[in-house]
Amino acid sequence: MKNLHFTIVLIIILSALTACSSPQVEPSHTPAIPTQMPVPSATPEAEVEASASITPTATATETPTVSPTPTTSPTPEIQYMISAELDYVNLLLSVRQFISIPNNSSTPLNEIMLVVPTNLYQGVFNLTYIAWDDGQEIADHNLRGSQLYIPMQEPLNPGMTKNIILYYELRLPPNNSSAEAGPTPFGYTTRQINLVDWYPFVPPYRKDQGWMMRDPWAYGEFLVYPVANFDVTITLKNLPQAVTIAASAPDTGDGETHKYYLKQGRNFVWSVSPSYTVFEEQLNGTTIMGYVFLPDAVAGEQAFYATVNAFQLYSELYGPYPHPMLTMVEADFDHGMEYQGLYFLNRGFFASYDGTAGSFLIAIAAHETSHQWWYGLVANDQALEPWLDEALATYSEYLFYEYYYPKRLDDFWWDRRVNPYHPAGWVNSTIYNASGYREYRDAVYLQGAIFINDLRNLIGDEAFFAFLKDYASTYANQIATGNDFFRILAGHTDADFTPLLTTYFQR
Ligand SMILES: [Zn+2]
Repeated sequence: MKNLHFTIVLIIILSALTACSSPQVEPSHTPAIPTQMPVPSATPEAEVEASASITPTATATETPTVSPTPTTSPTPEIQYMISAELDYVNLLLSVRQFISIPNNSSTPLNEIMLVVPTNLYQGVFNLTYIAWDDGQEIADHNLRGSQLYIPMQEPLNPGMTKNIILYYELRLPPNNSSAEAGPTPFGYTTRQINLVDWYPFVPPYRKDQGWMMRDPWAYGEFLVYPVANFDVTITLKNLPQAVTIAASAPDTGDGETHKYYLKQGRNFVWSVSPSYTVFEEQLNGTTIMGYVFLPDAVAGEQAFYATVNAFQLYSELYGPYPHPMLTMVEADFDHGMEYQGLYFLNRGFFASYDGTAGSFLIAIAAHETSHQWWYGLVANDQALEPWLDEALATYSEYLFYEYYYPKRLDDFWWDRRVNPYHPAGWVNSTIYNASGYREYRDAVYLQGAIFINDLRNLIGDEAFFAFLKDYASTYANQIATGNDFFRILAGHTDADFTPLLTTYFQR
């Protein structure tokens, strides 16, 4: 099967939505299409290209020439220009990367830290060149685990920017080859290559805690992402068959070279396979894509339309989605994961799909879609305050079923997703607190969703949904904390929610 090319593009118009829903239970209603769609103030292409230029034919033996990033904007943004060539047969990725790093803190920086998640795998990351943009090599850099320290010759003062150039190779591992990196889609299987957290990136910097870099753990996510602008060029070589690329952003290339621009995103990920069946839908100015393996096309169609419906509902409840694309990809391994503009959905959910909207396949599609707001738009410290995105994403499942399947809400959600597990534990647990995944999930995800539901019942729907919208818009493109969450909440209600804190939160 893997020798055949199964790319089928299914363009299905929005009016077919209800016909394509679960064969057993139809959605009770469809939300109206929001009338406003955000338009980026400047094209990402113009913005990123104005900041730097890398000669496409440069090799690691040449000194790249990069012009400095103009710092006319009051708050300069992190910029990535990445050129990657994937040798498909040999599973080797050769990368040239430019990073523009502004110091947006109020303190001078004596060193810069880059996070290199691929260095958590044995024999994968091979750095061949690292230099400042004037061509001066950085000989005294120090790579320890996933942390690359770069000492400054002189402090980088607030408001100033430094540019770094890296050349490196990734010898791609089989998926899940390292326990140290925790569960991640990174690597290859017989029918899929996934590039997630594949490039060195700049973590957030806080005056009181320095670089926000956490230790990996056996479960849960540990990376913290500031927003950045991405300009990514991908070429493929040694292709024995046609393949399809799924990515966080639209492909604006010429077919030979694949080019992607992502403005103010948390990260850029992509996936390659010869076996994808493709679904596509336009909604509110965003292209929603679905990539699933052909044997799972029937379940995949349901997951895709759950994604479309969830996207529409959350756009209304939480605010407009600010990017041109959202992509769903079937994951050829046993866990799903959210990224900016793209999420992976576990193949096990496709296999266990029972034809009803109550299947985990549908619930998790809604969950992962909501992470574009609770993770993408509003980020958080995923290691120390994972409830901020996971409790909201889990409760977003509830909102999906409440809206589309109100008559089956208990049957489809509470009785499948929550009640069988008798959840317990503190909602504000870190990923390091629990003794195992089940305990972590029950506390952070399930108790988290029960807490959010209790909060909604306490303050009423009007205040609750106004609060969520306010929280999303206030902390858009930022990294919110629990204190931020409750500060915004306090502005929307006079109700005393401290009993809920006593019940659900470890003080
Ligand atoms: Zn989640």
